[in-house]
Amino acid sequence: MTKQISRIVVAMFAVLATVAGMPVAASAIALPAVDMEAVLKAAQIDPRRADSAITPGSKDSVLLVEQALTAKGLLAGTYVDGHFGTRTIDAYAAYQRSLGYTGIDASGLPGQTSLRSLGEQRYTVVKVVTAGTKVTYHGKLMNSRTKAMLVEAERRFGSAFGVTQGSYNPGGTPASAGTHDGGGALDLSVSAMTTTQRTNAARALRQAGFAAWVRTPAQGDWGYHIHAIALGDPDQSTGAYHQSGDYYLGFNGLANRGRDDGPLVSPKLTWEEYQRVN
Ligand SMILES: [Zn+2]
Repeated sequence: MTKQISRIVVAMFAVLATVAGMPVAASAIALPAVDMEAVLKAAQIDPRRADSAITPGSKDSVLLVEQALTAKGLLAGTYVDGHFGTRTIDAYAAYQRSLGYTGIDASGLPGQTSLRSLGEQRYTVVKVVTAGTKVTYHGKLMNSRTKAMLVEAERRFGSAFGVTQGSYNPGGTPASAGTHDGGGALDLSVSAMTTTQRTNAARALRQAGFAAWVRTPAQGDWGYHIHAIALGDPDQSTGAYHQSGDYYLGFNGLANRGRDDGPLVSPKLTWEEYQRVN
C-alpha cells in the first residue's frame, strides 16, 4: 500500500468510527456492572442469615444496588454494606412499589426490569436471569426456565416426574404457605418410587439447580412428595426465596428451620451456573 492510500484508509476508518457512535459506546463501558445472578443469590441468602455476613461474589453488585436505593431515599446509608438483608429487601420492595408493582411483583427480590430501572445512569446489568414465558408441562403451570430445569433433572434421573402442583398458584394449596404463589415452585409425586428412588430424584433435581426435599406426612399437612424451588428464579414468592436461602445455608426449608435432610449436592449450582459447567 502506498503512503497516500494508507492515509486515505485511516481517514475512512475515522469517519466510520464517528458514524458508529464511538463516544456513546465509551460512556456505556464506563458504568460499573451489576451481576444479577449474584444479586439474586444474596437476596435469597442474606435475609436468612443470623449475622450480616456477605454472600461470596456478591458484594460489589449489592453495594451498587444499595447505593442506588440510598440515592432514591429508600435505604439509610448505614445499611449500604454489601449485605442484602431485610433492610435492603424492604427498600427494594419500596422501589418496586414506586414503579407500580404490587403483591408478589413487589416482594423485594430484584427482577431485571426494576434492576435496570434502578441503575439508570449508575450501572449496567450483566448475567441477567429471566424466568421466561409461562408454559404448561406435565399438566401444570410453570415458567420455561423451571421447565428446562425439570427436563434436565428428568434426564439425570432417567425417568419423567409427575407434577402435582406447579407455580403461579396463589392460595392453591394452604399447606404450601405461599411458596407456590410465584415462579420456580414444583411439587412432584413420589408414590411410585422406592425410598432410594425418592432420594435419587431429589438429588437429580438439586443437581439441575433446585432446592429440593422429600417431604413426609410427619412434617406437615401433606403426603409424601418432593417439594422443589428453582434457585435464583426472579419470580419466586417471598416464602420461596426464603426456602432457597435456607437451602444454601443448610436448612430444611420448613418453618422449624431444621437441618437439611439431604441428599447433599456440592457445589449448589443455579441453573445458569449448571449450564456453564455442563
Ligand atoms: Zn410444594
